[in-house]
Amino acid sequence: MGRARRPMRAALGALLALGVGVLGPLVGEAGGEATRRWVVVIDAGHGGRDPGALGVGGVQEKHVTLAIARLVEIFALDDPRLAIVLTRRQDVTLSLKERIAIAERVDADLYISVHANAHTTPGARGVETLVPASKARSDPRTLRLARALQAQLASQLGALGVPDRGVKAQRLYLRWARVPAALVEVGFLTNPGEGRRLQELWYQARIARALLEGVRAFLGL
Ligand SMILES: [Zn+2]
Repeated sequence: MGRARRPMRAALGALLALGVGVLGPLVGEAGGEATRRWVVVIDAGHGGRDPGALGVGGVQEKHVTLAIARLVEIFALDDPRLAIVLTRRQDVTLSLKERIAIAERVDADLYISVHANAHTTPGARGVETLVPASKARSDPRTLRLARALQAQLASQLGALGVPDRGVKAQRLYLRWARVPAALVEVGFLTNPGEGRRLQELWYQARIARALLEGVRAFLGL
């Protein structure tokens, strides 16, 4: 068993080296002259010991948020203007403080936290974007980011009959982020229709594309 572990460790080391190699130039090029590279942190809500909301068929919010975050990263691969940084790529526990710290570490330009809703009334459905109330007052860019994201979500998902619940200001931990920050609630896991769709790849992809379009609109790209 000990011997079998060694190649595993080597593989892990190689992966970590790759991760560092990928992160390095992305951040380094942020101030480049030709193409400005915007560092966008996508935070998959919950994870590990914290499943988040539970929905239809026993779905856990943490899996849906991670799937969407990963799709945002994939869809942005061919856009040299965007460097997507995920706060987590696996089912791991991360505190809110650690998530914000990641944004600081990579010198993020903006921060988007992805979540899905739950309600005791199964009929509740729709998409909404939350902003930290104090930050929305002190930093107009935060409200602009939230509106850009919500506009794209509402138009992309509205075509499928998903209600637009608008932008709401709340007391959120996100207020500690130094950059424009918003939290998207991409649908209700407790709604029979939305809860089922949120587990399907095509629907997750539609949300991911809407988020990317919202980012581009906010950045003026
Ligand atoms: Zn959540």
